[in-house]
Amino acid sequence: MSKLQVGVLGATGMVGQRFIALLADHPWFEPVVVAASPRSAGKTYREAVEGRWPHEGEIPANVSDLAVRQVSDFDAIAENVDFVVSALDMEKDEIRELEDGYALRETPVVSNNSAHRWTPDVPMIIPEINPDHADIIPAQQKRLGTSRGFISVKPNCSIQPYVPAFQALWDFGPTRSSVCTYQAISGAGKTFESWPEMVDNVIPYIGGEEEKSMEEPLKIWGHIENGAIVKADSPTISAQCIRVPATDGHMAATSVSFEKKPPRDEIIARWNSFQGSRKAEGLPSAPNPFVAYREEDDRPQTRLDRDFGNGMGITIGRLRDDNIFDYKFVALSHNTVRGAAGGAVLMAELLKAQGYLMAK
Ligand code: NAP
Repeated sequence: MSKLQVGVLGATGMVGQRFIALLADHPWFEPVVVAASPRSAGKTYREAVEGRWPHEGEIPANVSDLAVRQVSDFDAIAENVDFVVSALDMEKDEIRELEDGYALRETPVVSNNSAHRWTPDVPMIIPEINPDHADIIPAQQKRLGTSRGFISVKPNCSIQPYVPAFQALWDFGPTRSSVCTYQAISGAGKTFESWPEMVDNVIPYIGGEEEKSMEEPLKIWGHIENGAIVKADSPTISAQCIRVPATDGHMAATSVSFEKKPPRDEIIARWNSFQGSRKAEGLPSAPNPFVAYREEDDRPQTRLDRDFGNGMGITIGRLRDDNIFDYKFVALSHNTVRGAAGGAVLMAELLKAQGYLMAK
């Protein structure tokens, strides 16, 4: 099988570099174009990321010598790739314009960016949870007037630890929840070198993050009606999002109530056996197991557990009764893998398996 040719928009950033690392030996996809800002354009990829390649090992040989292009070189990029993945740090209007530009040039977009998350006919997908939202793509293509171009997005990194935890317990009717996230600095595209204020510090504000953490799960749990995704009414989620001095890994301290309170053992059994939708099973990046419950009182820990399932799995621990809600627990996921590039690659695999991504 020949691999689909991929363009990586924002390839020089924190998430973009993670895309490059994940696509290095991918069985279905091959990065053939890297694009970023005018600051990087014209350099080789190696030169453009010099001193900021964050991963162990060398820059993959298949991209190291590629010349970085400007993301706005629509035609030149679109004619060389089957689809693009996007991880840009730009104004939302600019990102929307760019992503629309590729979709209109019949080049599907699989995006990390939040710009299109609330566009009603753009699916926002966690493949194990709402793969059927891809069914909205034909309606979007009709609006755009395209035959193969469309935009799909993945949700925010902060929701990835607790949305799968709730999904596994959906039969019990989760009604309301309070979540406090402890989010790593790579979530802001930063390292301790580039953000020294975060050493020995905690910052109780991440712009826009609490709204995303409360609202995006409701689109994930929504349904398609008349060519739009209508968000779910519940569970109600209250969120506080806090930046902590960890490099990678978002932890969520979560309290939750149910219509029908399940026994503790049943919750843990559901989590440990939860694989999500069969449509995600067997995709190259799908973790197996997806979720693991740790019995130790001091787990999950960010550093010890963020790489579970190659950074695609969710680790949960500390399930106990709560005096206001039914239960409380702690969940962890890797923000630049499951929460960003890895989640987007898994979504691209799902879209290929469903016939929405194909060779031009
Ligand atoms: P980042 O490290 O700051 O990288 C930003 C990328 O955008 C770089 O490739 C940069 O190119 C490019 N860029 C910036 N300004 C540009 C311009 N005017 N024109 C063209 N390209 C431009 O950011 P990041 O952390 O990777 O995040 C990227 C996106 O993913 C953001 O929307 C973020 O919200 C989202 N996201 C991040 C995470 C995470 O955990 N980090 C999780 C989920 C979603 P140069 O190198 O040439 O400047």
